[in-house]
Amino acid sequence: MAETELQLNETENGFAIIPYPLFKKKVHPKNGRFLRKAEILILGTIFGFSSAKENASCNKTYRTFEENLNLSHGTVARAIKELKEAELIIQDKSRRICSSYRFNNPKKSKKFIVIDFFLNATKFTVRGETEPRYLTKSEIEVLSLIRTHCSNKHGKGFFESSVRGIASILNLCDTTVQKCITTLLHADLIFRPENEKGINNYQRSRFTVNKKLLRKSEKKFQKQASPTAPLPSKEVRAKEQEIENANARAERERYYMRLQNIANSRAKAFQERLEADDTYKRVDTDRRKLEPQIGRAEAFCLPELTELYEKRRKLLAERARRMAELNISEADLQPIWQCPKCSDTGFRPNGRMCDCYPGGRQQP
Ligand SMILES: [Zn+2]
Repeated sequence: MAETELQLNETENGFAIIPYPLFKKKVHPKNGRFLRKAEILILGTIFGFSSAKENASCNKTYRTFEENLNLSHGTVARAIKELKEAELIIQDKSRRICSSYRFNNPKKSKKFIVIDFFLNATKFTVRGETEPRYLTKSEIEVLSLIRTHCSNKHGKGFFESSVRGIASILNLCDTTVQKCITTLLHADLIFRPENEKGINNYQRSRFTVNKKLLRKSEKKFQKQASPTAPLPSKEVRAKEQEIENANARAERERYYMRLQNIANSRAKAFQERLEADDTYKRVDTDRRKLEPQIGRAEAFCLPELTELYEKRRKLLAERARRMAELNISEADLQPIWQCPKCSDTGFRPNGRMCDCYPGGRQQP
C-alpha cells in the first residue's frame, strides 16, 4: 500500500485532517468504545488547525461545525462534550472565545486522510438511486482515503488497495467498504479499471478519483457558501441586539400592563357599583369630609377629637353595613394580582426583575 506522507504548510478552513490512528482510537484506553464518525470528523477538523501551527486553536462555532460537517446541533454538542471529557481536545478559555479548541494528542502520525467539507454538504447522483443524496460518513471516508492518496505529490496518482486494506485503515467492516466502493463507482466519483480489479477482498484494486466532478462540486459548494451580502459588522450586530432588547423590554412592559389592567378593572367595577348606590355615596362622602377635620383636631389636640372619632366609627360601621348589603367586601376593592411577589409590575420591591414573566426570559 502506498504510504501517504504529506507535509502541511498552511492552515485552511476547508477540510479536516484525520490521522490514521483516530479511526481506531478508543475514547478511554481501556475497554472504551471507538470514536464515533462525528467525533472523528470534529477531532480531524480541530487537528487540521493544531497540526499546521504549534498552539493554533480552532475557533469554530457549533454552527460552523454543523454546516461544515453536515451534522445536527445535538450531534456536534454531544461529540464536543465527549471529546472534552475524554481529554482529546482542550477548550481554551483564556481567549474569551467560547469555542476555541486544541487537539490534545502528543502522538504524531504522518499518515492521514483529508476530508473536504464540501463532500459532507454536497448531494451526489448515484446510478440506480432515485434522487441525489448526501454521501454517508463511511462513503466520504473511503472516497477521501482514495482521494488523499491520489493527490499525494509523492504518490503515483492512484490508490491501490484491497477492500480488506481499506477496511483496516478506516476501522470499517469489509461489507461496508464494499458497499461504499459500489456507491462511489455508481456516483462516478471514483474509477476502477476492470483489468485492475481485485478478484476478492484480499486482492488489490487500483482506484482513481473523478477530479473533474469533484472540482465542479467544490466550486458549486463554494459559490453557495460564500455569502452574497457581507457579514454584518460589529456595530450593526450591536445595533440589532439593541433593537431586539428594546423590543423585548417593550413586550415585557406590555405584558405587565395588561395584567395590571385586568386586576385594576375588576376592583374598579366594584367601586363603581358602590358609587352608584346613594346610601353608600352619602355615608362615604361624609366619612371623607371628616378626615381633614380629624387631622386638624389631632394636630392641635382639639377637645372635639373624641366626638369626631366616634362620628367616624359610626360612619365606617354604616359604610361596612351598606357594603355587606350590596354584597361587596373590602377585598373586592383591592386589585387581585396574579403574582403577589411583584404585584404584576414585573419588579420585586427590592428592584430586581420578577421571575413570573412567562418563558422565564429575563430581559435586560
Ligand atoms: Zn412577579
